[in-house]
Amino acid sequence: MARSERRSGGASTALLLALAASSAAGCGGAGPAGPRAALDRAPKLERRPLTVVPGVHMLGGLSPSAAYAVETSAGLLLFDSGLDADAKALKEQMAGLGLHWRKVVAIFLTHAHGDHAGGADALRAATGAKVYAGEGDAAVLRAGRPREAFFSTFHMPDREPHPTTVDVPLKGGERLDFGEAAVRAVAAPGHTPGSTCYLVERGGLRMLFAGDVILMLRGDETPRSELGKPLGTYSAYLAPRYRGDAKTYLASLRVLRSMPVPDLVFPGHPRADNPPQSPRLSQARWAAMLDGGIRDMETLLARYEADGADFLDGTPKVLLPDFFYLGDFRGSALYGFVAGPKLYVVDAPGGPGLADALDRGMEAVGLRPRPPAAVLLTSCDDRATAGLGELIGRHKVQVVAAAGGIPSLRESCPAGTDFIPAEELPARGWFPVEAFALEGRGAAPAAYLLTTSGKRVLCSGMIPVRMSQAVGERLIADLTRPPGSPRGYAASLARLALASPNLWLPAVPTDDQNANVYDQEWQWAMMDNFGVVQFLESRANRR
Ligand SMILES: [Zn+2]
Repeated sequence: MARSERRSGGASTALLLALAASSAAGCGGAGPAGPRAALDRAPKLERRPLTVVPGVHMLGGLSPSAAYAVETSAGLLLFDSGLDADAKALKEQMAGLGLHWRKVVAIFLTHAHGDHAGGADALRAATGAKVYAGEGDAAVLRAGRPREAFFSTFHMPDREPHPTTVDVPLKGGERLDFGEAAVRAVAAPGHTPGSTCYLVERGGLRMLFAGDVILMLRGDETPRSELGKPLGTYSAYLAPRYRGDAKTYLASLRVLRSMPVPDLVFPGHPRADNPPQSPRLSQARWAAMLDGGIRDMETLLARYEADGADFLDGTPKVLLPDFFYLGDFRGSALYGFVAGPKLYVVDAPGGPGLADALDRGMEAVGLRPRPPAAVLLTSCDDRATAGLGELIGRHKVQVVAAAGGIPSLRESCPAGTDFIPAEELPARGWFPVEAFALEGRGAAPAAYLLTTSGKRVLCSGMIPVRMSQAVGERLIADLTRPPGSPRGYAASLARLALASPNLWLPAVPTDDQNANVYDQEWQWAMMDNFGVVQFLESRANRR
């Protein structure tokens, strides 16, 4: 097996430019007619195993990602390996293309995510192939944890990550020869810290195996979320524990942008393109696709710089000069704000220990601990009131709640507690606020839209929610049992639709969501929540 490994230091832009220039010169129309003619016949990347050009194949029947196989005289090269559970499908798809999985000699992982790397370890064990991966992902691959390093925010309860042996961690810049094929590792961190693209030269063609740096080639025309965009930049919008990073992503995109378009561009999730796209891009399309991501990352970085990356991830933070996220207590977020000399808190979750948790949160954000003057309840059920008795007993807080919930609160709270209907809060003049009595989920829900530091801050409890699979399932369960009501929930959404906050502070943040809301995010969240109501209504009509 003729294989050489030449390592260089880190991937440098200069090196890439040199590579790109030399290969562009070699492909400037003077190349052999064979590969060029094959290129003209390259099919679109449909959702099935297919041969793209002779010796280069897409295992496109895997889901959700694709793997790719390249034949060389030194054995088969595999780029990504699908989910662990797809091992059988992977082998069958290779057999269907006339390839034998036992001939795999190298598995190049584009990154650690389970849908790309899950099958690598078993295939390595069965074939003796070496596993290559970017060094920024090697540690999590080897450890097989944490879970979010493998599944990000995706809900895959039936999948468990496991350790993967990484034989060769790559810094980027390495060239690895396999017979007539040269594989160049291009470090492209950002989607994950170890994301690596592989630029393969074989038979006069330059092919880029991009992993999720490029998710798909076209994307949605009008994406309803970051996930609809062609690049895998969605991870840069997530909390740090999901390992995406806007700054390195931007740098990676600029490196790719400085390259001439490869002859074939293979994305991580071609099946997400509807309709299927050709892996042959014009220079203009290549540039436009990358420029879109560059603009997005520049905008995101400017926002993080201006407003903070305010992830509701358990770490207390100053959201605005007088508005604080005080961390989590037993599964619910704690929020406090200062108006005049007084501290106000939102909800009293979690039961005994809440008063101390609030003090700890205040200390963590550099605020002198002080007793809250009042608590604004976003609902009157146990989730929001379990710690109310302690706050009343210790600090004699006033309680603001939707009028409909006050009679039952009176029964459970100490005599003499001062209740204020949320509807009357604005007239008190404590701080600029709009109060919304809501319905449909939980007991006597309410929301508060405060204006401070020129921003609109919405504390809205459990209505609406930032959608995820798990959050949607919980919402459906709540809406289909008393006191839940899809119709009431829809009415609440309609009341809040125009609130369009700059900061949205839910009782239970989804996947550590960013408190700051931009562009269409509020409308998208509304549409997702209305979508659940519509689903329940159409399900009820079918019965
Ligand atoms: Zn990924």
